[in-house]
Amino acid sequence: MHVCEQCGLCCERHGHEITLSLSDLERWHKQGRTDILQFVKTIEYDSVIFGIRNWIDKTGKKLDFCPFLTKNFSCAIHETKPDHCRMYPNKYYPFIRQCERMK
Ligand code: SF4
Ligand code: SF4
Repeated sequence: MHVCEQCGLCCERHGHEITLSLSDLERWHKQGRTDILQFVKTIEYDSVIFGIRNWIDKTGKKLDFCPFLTKNFSCAIHETKPDHCRMYPNKYYPFIRQCERMK
């Protein structure tokens, strides 16, 4: 298993490309994390979620960066970060690309 050095490179380069899970949304609603949910929009029909758009601005425009990457290259929501980020970089649940520090 790859040990992450927490350099933040993957977040800087690919943080805008991550996808969210339904469990991320459920957890953030339970935790009252409106600070995170303001960057998320669900696409619903008859109260059923069939799409999730994440890291969007107030107008619905997709951001080209993750809004939670700090200037120090750490994650501002580390304790409740998305499943996608939590599982990266282990290959059974890859980010978009593998860790660039592994090359
Ligand atoms: S997964 Fe790799 S690129 Fe991302 S923070 Fe860890 S060491 Fe850096
Ligand atoms: S939520 Fe955190 S771990 Fe995930 S891409 Fe953004 S800064 Fe990186």
